[in-house]
Amino acid sequence: MPSAGNSRLLDEARRRDDLAPLTEYVRAFATDGVIHLNGNSLGPPRSGLAAELDRVVTGQWAPRQVQAWFKDGWLDLPRTVGDKLGTLLGAGPGQVVVAGETTSTTLFNALTAACRLRPDRPVLLIEAESFPTDLYIADSVAKLLDRELVVESRDGFDTYLRDNGSRVAAALAAPVDFRTGERREIRPTTALCHAVGAISVWDLSHATGVLPVDLDANAVDLAVGCGYKYLGGGPGAPAFTYVPIRLQPTVDFPLSGWHGHAKPFAMVQTFIPADDIDQARTGTPPLLSLVALNHALAPLVEVGIHELHRRSSELGEFFLECLADRSPELLGRLASPLDADRRGGHLALRVPQADKVEEALADSGVLVDARPPDLIRFAFAPLYVTHEQVANAVDALCRAVEGVQ
Ligand SMILES: *Cc1c(COP(=O)(O)O)cnc(C)c1O
Repeated sequence: MPSAGNSRLLDEARRRDDLAPLTEYVRAFATDGVIHLNGNSLGPPRSGLAAELDRVVTGQWAPRQVQAWFKDGWLDLPRTVGDKLGTLLGAGPGQVVVAGETTSTTLFNALTAACRLRPDRPVLLIEAESFPTDLYIADSVAKLLDRELVVESRDGFDTYLRDNGSRVAAALAAPVDFRTGERREIRPTTALCHAVGAISVWDLSHATGVLPVDLDANAVDLAVGCGYKYLGGGPGAPAFTYVPIRLQPTVDFPLSGWHGHAKPFAMVQTFIPADDIDQARTGTPPLLSLVALNHALAPLVEVGIHELHRRSSELGEFFLECLADRSPELLGRLASPLDADRRGGHLALRVPQADKVEEALADSGVLVDARPPDLIRFAFAPLYVTHEQVANAVDALCRAVEGVQ
């Protein structure tokens, strides 16, 4: 465990931890003494996960086997978990489902459905700074549906909508840039889409569990997101889909698997989609992964998204404060907005040999996330990071950067 070089900062960190009501949650995570600043990738499990999985395996699967799907609520879990998630997303019940797919598959399903809602429009619009899988999937959807993929820069995105909006079938954006943490406000971009008649699709992967997205209030059309980042659902946790009630009668998903059928167990030959959020389901969900995600959600739902966001911002601000004190030079390498209101849950520094610095930090018990060639991301997951850890991480960072130069 590294120790902060500056005892004044360390004292200040401990003082703030003592005052912060969420500090007690740290004990609820199996962090093993490591400082996890990579919660925008894969953070630690919540304690008690193994016992929860054992409860389901030994207490449900073993005695009831196939009957457990019906008798233990397994079949409903994609919706049950979806509704819990909805409270973090500002989505009312019956609009979020965890179908059991990856974010990539879920996005394919949502983007194709979005384009199908606007059959006469030639363009699928996406931000150039998108997470790579989003660019790849959007390209494939455009090819499949014979549309034109338009890739615009962050600023060019809204300009394109203003100038060519009547050509746009669907526009995909993210509320948090996966590299820099910079925010894009959901409301104005969604309103712009609606003003030109386009469907707005959001990839919430880097926002879910750390930033309020207010999907209902912002009148979002379709959204997807990842289960294994701030949600802490575990390695390969399934992704979610949001379909507002108002679109459920008209949306038409391409992945028409039997679990999305109005009557999955009638075993009929033609596909009739469920008339509710279940139509976004595909096949048999990965039950144990859903159990793990459900377990992870409990403290997040208990604390609530606004408090989670406040806590994460506070930790990010303290990181910058420590950096200003320890190394103004490193602070000058900030690749993210300085203003906390313009950032999601993480920030990034431009540091040469980022991968070596990442390794050196891991050796001193601080997990971060390097993105080649020169970006290091630091994520402030609200429930398992403390001010004291942040102060220690900044100290380890300064030493690691000196060490590799
Ligand atoms: C992490 C992430 C994904 C992950 O996709 P998977 O198919 O679940 O691996 C997709 N999109 C974005 C924006 C992400 O941040």
